[in-house]
Amino acid sequence: MIYIHEIEKSYGSTKVLKGVNGSIAKGDFITIVGASGAGKSTLLHLIAGLDKGHSGSIEFNGQMLESMDKTSLNAYRNQQIGLVFQFHNLLPELTALENITLPRWIGGKMNKSALLKANELLELLGIADRAHHLPSEMSGGEQQRVAIARALINEPELLLADEPTGNLDSENAQAVHDLLIKLNRELGQTIVVVTHNKSLAALGQTKWTMTDGKLSSD
Ligand code: ADP
Repeated sequence: MIYIHEIEKSYGSTKVLKGVNGSIAKGDFITIVGASGAGKSTLLHLIAGLDKGHSGSIEFNGQMLESMDKTSLNAYRNQQIGLVFQFHNLLPELTALENITLPRWIGGKMNKSALLKANELLELLGIADRAHHLPSEMSGGEQQRVAIARALINEPELLLADEPTGNLDSENAQAVHDLLIKLNRELGQTIVVVTHNKSLAALGQTKWTMTDGKLSSD
């Protein structure tokens, strides 16, 4: 699905990525580990098409992100990539269901099938009874599950998660782990997750380690 070829990326005079190579196939569950500041999030953002100014290339289904025009890159970000962060960034004044369907509203694709999909995700993620609750009325783990559902509403090819359990207690972190495994095993969802969490790191079929701007795979 994705080929990452010789990516280099600098911030000012500091080179953060120093020739990163890798590939992601459909159905993969890849975890990325490494010391803080090693460049993991930088790589994730580049894969998501959220950042640029790098050298090297990222190829998605035969197309280089670097040569996409603005419209194609926006479509890639909105439709092919689902993103989950450490802090869920839910809108506080919207219910779970409204937060989940927000990407459809934004993309002008809010319809009956979006609502069906949202309800299916609420069910799958075990939060159907929270559909009409505000984020403030849910636990941290439930909020993160809503964020995962939101990331999946457009049925992206690739789910990217940056420290999705970093802000959760161990019980909720475990629940989010279990969900990611379920999504991968039962739905074949391709997942790449950056984590400090050792048990989450151990789940990946493939573990990438980022050391000083370079990636090694085990
Ligand atoms: P990790 O995710 O492995 O903790 P990051 O990719 O977040 O590492 O950061 C790698 C390095 O790049 C760090 O030294 C960080 O300070 C620096 N960095 C990240 N983003 C920016 C930015 N927008 N501007 C300047 N430096 C940045």
